[in-house]
Amino acid sequence: MSETRHNWTKEEILDIYNKPLMELLYDAATIHRKHHDPNTVQVSTLLSIKTGGCPEDCGYCPQAARYHTDIEGNDLMSVSHVKAQALRAKASGSSRVCMGAAWRNVKDGPEFDQVLEMVRTINKLDMEVCCTLGMLTENQAQRLAEAGLYAYNHNLDTSEDYYKDVISTRAFEDRLETIDNVRKSNVTVCSGGIIGMGEAIEDRAGMLVALASLNPQPESVPINALVAVEGTPMEDMEPVSIWDMIRMVATTRIVMPETQVRLSAGRTEMSREGQAMCFFAGANSIFAGDKLLTTPNPDVNEDMEMFKMLGLNPQKPFTKVSQPKTVEAAESKLKPLGEKPKWSRPGHTIERNEEAKAKSKVVD
Ligand code: SF4
Repeated sequence: MSETRHNWTKEEILDIYNKPLMELLYDAATIHRKHHDPNTVQVSTLLSIKTGGCPEDCGYCPQAARYHTDIEGNDLMSVSHVKAQALRAKASGSSRVCMGAAWRNVKDGPEFDQVLEMVRTINKLDMEVCCTLGMLTENQAQRLAEAGLYAYNHNLDTSEDYYKDVISTRAFEDRLETIDNVRKSNVTVCSGGIIGMGEAIEDRAGMLVALASLNPQPESVPINALVAVEGTPMEDMEPVSIWDMIRMVATTRIVMPETQVRLSAGRTEMSREGQAMCFFAGANSIFAGDKLLTTPNPDVNEDMEMFKMLGLNPQKPFTKVSQPKTVEAAESKLKPLGEKPKWSRPGHTIERNEEAKAKSKVVD
């Protein structure tokens, strides 16, 4: 039952998702224990190294330049600032730093060189380094790998069918292409999605089919509950019920037994009891720190209290995959190629996104 399969059908996944809850929890927890230490949870810190002003129109995202949200944008952080934040994260129990930049795609040049230097710096602190920088070419993935990147995050967000109702500025295939480019390097893949964006249960299952079909499956799958931010097209979405979150985590665990399932955005709305059930159902990673890029997240001290109460231990770095080596910039044999990903959906628009865009112009 717990062998890794890449041929899950949507119907099979729906059958799992809709099982009586106690049965679902029992199955998920059994698989979880077979593949992971149930008392160990990874603690990651997410750092927004470049905030806001993004040209994309992801309907859930307050960082899209076109929506009127009150986030404070910032230019790319300095390497020394990132190092200081990483040291602070390490001291409070994080084994991974994930750096996010609100870019459509990576562009070769001084800013990417600066990110590569951040990767080198954090890897030398013996922490796992993850980046989420938008679309990536194969050459850029290789350069990140050479700098010592451990993981690259690129979420599928939702099912292929629902994707076009959430984002118009790129397509589902673009996501898969970047994941494929990451896979050609030694960097591990982190890819998951968001529930509560108005999708049907079938879309949640569809997303899991797409993720589970990847071979190898992603080493890490974040499951986010939408944080509806005022000013975005999804500002009026109803909060996700904890039961949906538990079902989603449990189903993810069953179809991707080896992966690290991440309880990501939306944890501030979850009780400790709810989070404990998610850990029981197979979640084995959280993001620490009071902000998740731009949305609120529980305080790290509260999380450590919760860990103590539940008898959980933070996972040590490089438990699953060994530490990559860092090649210094001066010794790199890889040259930037200056490639750009194509703009694959130039004519496509989403009414809800256009309305939010128009509204933001009025307010401005
Ligand atoms: S989710 Fe990422 S790509 Fe989409 S608008 Fe936000 S920052 Fe840009």
